[in-house]
Formats: sequence, C-alpha cells, structure tokens
Amino acid sequence: MVNAVDFYKHELDVADNFASKALDRLRRDEIPPVPQNFEVWYVYYANVNPKLRDDINDLLLSQDKLTEQDCQDLYEKYLNYGHDRETFQKAGDQINTTLQDVSGLLQNVKSTTGQFTGVLKETTDRINTAQNPDDVQALLNIITQETNRMVAYNEELETRLDQSYSVMNELKRDMERIRREAITDGLTGLANRKAFDEQINRLSREAQKDGLTFSLIMIDIDHFKAFNDTYGHQTGDQVLRLVAMTLVNEVKGQDMAARYGGEEFVIILPGTNIEAARFVAENLRKAVEKKEVINRSNGENLGQITVSIGVAQFYTKESADDCVHRADKALYQSKEKGRNCVSIAKTPHEEDMGS
Ligand code: GH3
Ligand code: MG
Ligand code: MG
Repeated sequence: MVNAVDFYKHELDVADNFASKALDRLRRDEIPPVPQNFEVWYVYYANVNPKLRDDINDLLLSQDKLTEQDCQDLYEKYLNYGHDRETFQKAGDQINTTLQDVSGLLQNVKSTTGQFTGVLKETTDRINTAQNPDDVQALLNIITQETNRMVAYNEELETRLDQSYSVMNELKRDMERIRREAITDGLTGLANRKAFDEQINRLSREAQKDGLTFSLIMIDIDHFKAFNDTYGHQTGDQVLRLVAMTLVNEVKGQDMAARYGGEEFVIILPGTNIEAARFVAENLRKAVEKKEVINRSNGENLGQITVSIGVAQFYTKESADDCVHRADKALYQSKEKGRNCVSIAKTPHEEDMGS
C-alpha cells in the first residue's frame, strides 16, 4: 500500500503551485473545496498517482468537469486508506490480545490439570495403604473436593474460550464487511471498478493459460447529462440505480455486472462467445428501454431511458485493457448510429487491418 505522506514530499513553492491549481479547478467546476475533493485534484496536478490521473483524464474525454460524485468515487478508490488502515490496525491488536489470552489459558490448563492428576495419584496411593474406613472417607472427600474444583475450573475455561471465539468471529465479520465495501459501488450496490479490474485480470490470465474465452458488454446511458441537467442530480442518481437493478436482474450465474464509472456499466460474461454476449446485450437494451422513470418527489413520469452498448469477446493474444478498449469503441459506434442499440467490436485482427 502506498504511504499517504510519501505522496507529498514537495518543496513549498511546488506544493503551492499544485494547491493553487487544485483550488482554481474546484472553484471553476463549482465543487466544494473540502479536503477530499481538494486532495483528488492536488494528487492529479502533482502527478503522484498515475492511475488516478488516467481515470480523471478518461472522465474528461466525455465530460467537461468532474462532479462531486466523481471526486468522491476517486477519493474512495485511490486515497481513502485512513479508515480501513485504522480498522485493520485495531483488528490486528485485538487478534494479538485474544491469542495471548488463549495461550495464557492453555498454560494454565496444563498446570492445573497437572496438579489435579498429581493430587488424584497421591490420594489413590494413600487409599491403597489406608488403615481404617475413616482415613478412606477423608481421602475420598479430598478427591470429591478436587473434582468439584476441576469441574468449576472447566466451566470457567469454557466461558473464556467462548468469549475469545466471539471476539474472533466478530473480527472475521468486520474483515468481510470491509472487503465487501471495498469492492462495492456505494450508489448502486453493484461491483465497483476495482472489483471489475480484479475479475477481468483474473479471467484474462486464465484465458491466456487455458484458452477459455469471455466477453464484455460496455453500457452507457444515453443523453444522461441532459437528463441530469433537467431533473437534477438526485433524479440522475435514481436512474443510475434503476439501470443497475435492471442489469442485475438480467445477468445470471457467474456473470458480473459492475459500475465502470459515472453512467457507464460493464458486464463480464465468463465462458461466453460474442454471439451469446450479443444476445444478452440485446436483452439488456430492451429491458432498460421498457422501464419508465418516475420522479419520486412528485410522481411525474419522466419517460424512458435508453442505453448504448458495445460488445467484445476476449482474444487470448490481447491484454484485458485492449479488450475493454475494443468494447468501448463499439459502444461509441452505437452512439454514432443513433444510440439505443448494440454494436459488436472489431476483432484485433480487423483492427490491425484498419477495416
Ligand atoms: P451520450 O448519450 O453521448 O452518452 O451523452 P451523455 O449526456 O450521457 O454523456 P456525457 O458523458 O456527456 O454525460 C455523462 C454525465 O453523467 C455527466 C455527469 O454529469 C453525469 N454523471 C456522472 N456520474 C454521475 C453520478 O454519479 N450521478 C449523477 N447524477 N450523474 C452523474
Ligand atoms: Mg459516458
Ligand atoms: Mg452517456
């Protein structure tokens, strides 16, 4: 993990220059200059995180400014390690304490059981050589006492082990939640860009090894900016959630639907060729087209939304990025053809031939 402070080892005048550029940018785009938004733009101008910079440059190809949501997404994706780091640190401390507790308990068990066995053995020996019933009775009393002490000790031990078990279980749930949040898009609940990147990298490595192909469907909402500008950002967000839900309902099994960024979505279909992927894409397009957007605040019907789609099948000789790029180009072909349609990407071979 990158250490946040290592990012910012700039001389005063250099830092001042990046800071001014970031502030100017926020002012121009009418984004509140709160620390998170500022940090995204500072990092951009300081050019200390190439992936963040690439993401911003990609966004700026299709929009003239970043929205507050974009800044928030980028911050979460690249810069917000503080929160998780703190939780991990706490978890580590707690695991250490619990392990020490348990190992202390085990030491204790060993010595207590040893003492118990010793007393039992000694008392049994003495019973064997006892001279009269009263002595035997007294020795039996000792055994009963010792056994009761041991039972009580075992109960106490069980309670303490149960407690350690609950602590460990709680930690496990915390870790699972953090992992889930790290790969989920907050607005739509779909897999996020990070989860998509992990999945496509894994599938492309597998495909290069065993030849099993997969397909990608890139989806972009049509005229979304106009929709946002007319009805407001919140209604825009509602549309994003509606499209996300529609995608989730349409894809099944091992297919993964993710929010690629802004109003773009992507679906990965493992073990699926281009024809089958085109069929899924066409169904998705129709499913979105059928939905009507109702303004939650006043019940007004805002009409239809449509999506443009590009589909590509992965070729084992290309990289994951190449495949995304081809799907993206196909998507733009759909936009050029008039939107609300599906286009199939050129194969890498056709691309090379320039056809
Ligand atoms: P096209 O049909 O060519 O795709 O046109 P478009 O208007 O959809 O394309 P453009 O890329 O110009 O606009 C995308 C807009 O999506 C810009 C931005 O305001 C909006 N947007 C991006 N992320 C979010 C978000 O999280 N919430 C909302 N409400 N809007 C967003
Ligand atoms: Mg777009
Ligand atoms: Mg769009």
